[in-house]
Amino acid sequence: QVVKSARVMKKAVAHLLPFMEAEKKANEAKHAGKVLLATVKGDVHDIGKNIVGVVLGCNNYEILDLGVMTSCDKILKTAIEEKVDIIGLSGLITPSLDEMAYVAKEMKRLEIKLPLLIGGATTSKAHTAVKIAPHFDGPVVHVIDASKAVTTVSSLLRSDISEAFSTKNRAQQEELRKTHANKIKKPLLSLKEARANRASINWETYSPPVPEKLGIQALEDIPLDEIVPFIDWSPFFHTWELRGRYPGILEDKEIGDKATELFNDAQALLNTIIEKKLLQAKAVYGFFPANSVGDDLEVYKDADRNTTLTTFHTLRQQAKKSQDTPNFALSDFIAPSSTGKQDYLGTFAVTVGHGVDELCAKFDIDHDDYNSIMVKALADRMAEALAEKLHKQARQEWGYGKDEKLTNEDLVRERYQGIRPAPGYPACPDHTEKPLIWELMQVEKNTGIKLTESCAMWPASSVSGMYFSHPSSKYFAVGKINRDQLCEYAERTNRTLEETERWLAPNLNDAP
Ligand code: SAH
Repeated sequence: QVVKSARVMKKAVAHLLPFMEAEKKANEAKHAGKVLLATVKGDVHDIGKNIVGVVLGCNNYEILDLGVMTSCDKILKTAIEEKVDIIGLSGLITPSLDEMAYVAKEMKRLEIKLPLLIGGATTSKAHTAVKIAPHFDGPVVHVIDASKAVTTVSSLLRSDISEAFSTKNRAQQEELRKTHANKIKKPLLSLKEARANRASINWETYSPPVPEKLGIQALEDIPLDEIVPFIDWSPFFHTWELRGRYPGILEDKEIGDKATELFNDAQALLNTIIEKKLLQAKAVYGFFPANSVGDDLEVYKDADRNTTLTTFHTLRQQAKKSQDTPNFALSDFIAPSSTGKQDYLGTFAVTVGHGVDELCAKFDIDHDDYNSIMVKALADRMAEALAEKLHKQARQEWGYGKDEKLTNEDLVRERYQGIRPAPGYPACPDHTEKPLIWELMQVEKNTGIKLTESCAMWPASSVSGMYFSHPSSKYFAVGKINRDQLCEYAERTNRTLEETERWLAPNLNDAP
């Protein structure tokens, strides 16, 4: 509701501004505070940050939004030059957590004594307390969502209550650090033991399905209206902080009316986007001869399997499992080369993000935050929908999905054979496997999707991953790993231990 009404307020202010020039100084003084917002270096996601900006703006804070992929240097320089009162950092992917800690360290080094807000999908109260706050003397506060932003900022900036608020925040963080330090680390298996408990698939009796055509295929100008039926709408409502499942949410006693209004607005904009072709959908996918070798996946150039095109690296669960539960690695789902079986692996990358910036710019000029954020929310939905649609096509071309009879609801719930794990997600938490997919399929040339230094995909409304066909393949979380696997993984990926530690930080059992 706040975001929706923001346009009226902003338009009114824009209209009145020329008349108020004379009073400008007085007007500036009336702001409750100046807030700098930025998505950190290497990250491209900004829906949450933008919602926070609008909500704060509507509560009389002046917002200085530096956008996405903002270097620490730029954030801190601007904070000083513009004399802001508070800095808010946002990020979605795990490498951004590291970057946020770096900003905190730099603030200490440069003696910038401003409150620091932390927000975004992978951030948490615990992570903020343990990994960010200790680097900086000023208040560092985790903000769970936009609804909490106003009370947090006002508590930090109002001179009468800020000290009490910071003291309480510090005490809570001290508690969280204690809990973290005292947490009894569950003993992990050695890598050798974990491997001995790999998912055992009987390859002897199994014939891997053979894709119709090997190699890559690029798709341009995929008609947007063909993507729409694959949209999973529930996450769309979550983006707007409306909790519930679609379509039930439309009938919800409390929020049904608002959800319906939002949904109708989305449909109207979606129709315009489709009619005027305002976004471009592109994809590239491919099937390759592949076998597992240890926990690696070797991808071969052709059927004779003599030339390796690339090697993917998978990580294995090391937690102690109850009986009959394997210690999974994704490599378990591809036939080992030692079996002599001819198995295959698929890879894909899709985007519906080209055109988003241009369209948002139009709405931004018109002070229409609501529709600007709506464009991004819809493009994200369509990217996921395109991933679903392409996966269906891939299963057909791979043969095993030819007779599949699934409704769209079944697809949304992923009730089909095989999986499409995405690097950066729990079964394959290493984002740096993405560049291998990029090279293998010339993703940037074929789709225009680029990778940032943190391996985030730009445009943001993009999805990439791998296809596994085996009926036993499933999603899991690698979870915490031990130093033995870390060291071996560093060797397999040909990187220094330090670099590997940085990328796998959230998975390290003995992280400092
Ligand atoms: N219908 C959802 C699809 C996205 S979430 C939407 O529109 O938002 C589900 C996707 O996330 C999966 O297809 C897979 O690509 C990824 N995923 C989920 N859990 C995963 C895990 N444990 N490991 C790797 N990838 C995972």
